[in-house]
Amino acid sequence: MMDHEAALRLDETMRQALWKQVTEVIEGYLTSQDAISISPTLDPDQVRSYLSQVDFDRPIPPAEALEFVARGLDRYQMHTAHPRYFGLFNPTPATMSIAADALAAAFNPQMAAWGHNPFGVEVERFLIRALALKFGYDEASADGTFASGGAEANHTALLTSLVHTFPEYAEVGLRGIDRQPVLYVSNESHHSLIKAARSCGLGTDAIRRVPVDEGLKINVEALAAGVARDRSAGLAPFLAVATAGTTSAGVIDPLPEMADLAQGEGLWLHVDAAWGGAAALAPELRAHLKGIERADSITFDAHKWLNVPMAAGLFLTRHPEVLAQAFRITAAYIPKDTHGLEVIDPYTHSIQWSRRFIGLKVYLALAVAGWEGYRRAILHQTAMGELLRQELEAEGWEVANRTPLPVVCFVDGSSPAGRSEAFIEAVAQEVASGGENWISVTRLDEVQPVLRACITSYRTKPADLEWLLRDLRRARRKVYAEN
Ligand SMILES: *Cc1c(COP(=O)(O)O)cnc(C)c1O
Repeated sequence: MMDHEAALRLDETMRQALWKQVTEVIEGYLTSQDAISISPTLDPDQVRSYLSQVDFDRPIPPAEALEFVARGLDRYQMHTAHPRYFGLFNPTPATMSIAADALAAAFNPQMAAWGHNPFGVEVERFLIRALALKFGYDEASADGTFASGGAEANHTALLTSLVHTFPEYAEVGLRGIDRQPVLYVSNESHHSLIKAARSCGLGTDAIRRVPVDEGLKINVEALAAGVARDRSAGLAPFLAVATAGTTSAGVIDPLPEMADLAQGEGLWLHVDAAWGGAAALAPELRAHLKGIERADSITFDAHKWLNVPMAAGLFLTRHPEVLAQAFRITAAYIPKDTHGLEVIDPYTHSIQWSRRFIGLKVYLALAVAGWEGYRRAILHQTAMGELLRQELEAEGWEVANRTPLPVVCFVDGSSPAGRSEAFIEAVAQEVASGGENWISVTRLDEVQPVLRACITSYRTKPADLEWLLRDLRRARRKVYAEN
């Protein structure tokens, strides 16, 4: 029987062997990635039976355990880092950010109190300022917090906008507000906002889903009419959400018009730029985000187009007092060692308490790639999106969305069947079944089913697009032949 310290810490020889094995597994994955099947077989019994091989009553040696989970990850995972995974906004992680996540786990800084981690908290403060400046916020008023992802950042936006508009909300809650607060999102905005409305006690009835125009952008006139209607019904409009890079179609809502409307109506403007916000890092694309600097708050996910591993979201605001209004509390057990210093304890600014050092993976990736490395990656992906769009059209596919960002939604416009859900689903299935390419299916404006290909890896090259086009050609022929 191992003593408990040997069991948990392992002895030095074992640790050295373990680190070597970990780096070999990681490097092995990075080098073999392109050759493996992108999508796993989806068979719960198979995964569960694999897992039943390990029994916590009979512990196994570290090397064996590591090999076991590495094999599991290899077999039973969608390989989203693959250059021909044209799927959801899941990136190929930058290598420095993988190293950063390992360091964050080993040093395990506690990110609630400044005094427990001056380095970590200041790294995040530095990043929040630097990224806020890219969005056009003023250095003096820019504030924000790292979050687990876009969902938490959007939840934070709802809470801060409620507290800002209805100061009584923080103390008495919604029942302290004499009129029903309502918020405005578009039909194409992210579903995390619905969860956020539930979590804030607003409920989904408080959400107005504004229709989009033919370009899939929020219809600002319809939004204005909705606000007028709700006001005359005695309700209290408080928040308008614009999306910069919709999840389905990568469309950027008209931000200047949204900012004008929000300003005129006294609404908080939140811009959900979870994925598309990365355009702010490429001066060539920055104009597409014009107006974002007028947003009261912004959601931006580093774990999407900044290519860092999962769980790296950001909430940014130009109202430095609002996070504290929403989240500041005092707790007897929090150390008072920073008394008199001009610093902020992160727990007074966020939903989370103890949390991972999220900023490190962003910091290390940026430190090594620089703004210029990111600019090039973003422009490369945008160019690949444009190329894919052209080649799809050249092969008779019809592109159904318009955006400068690399998300391409398409149907086969040459026959009515080519727009049908059955055709779209069958083509996506057929492409996935080869294991060499993966694309998703979505619906535009909740009605039109489309195939959707996103250039989500900075490693995707023209040859990868050719491969996808070949698979699409084959799939189209086969699906038509079978029906
Ligand atoms: C992905 C996404 C979200 C949710 O972010 P998570 O990091 O997955 O929680 C919110 N809004 C938009 C527009 C997104 O694309």
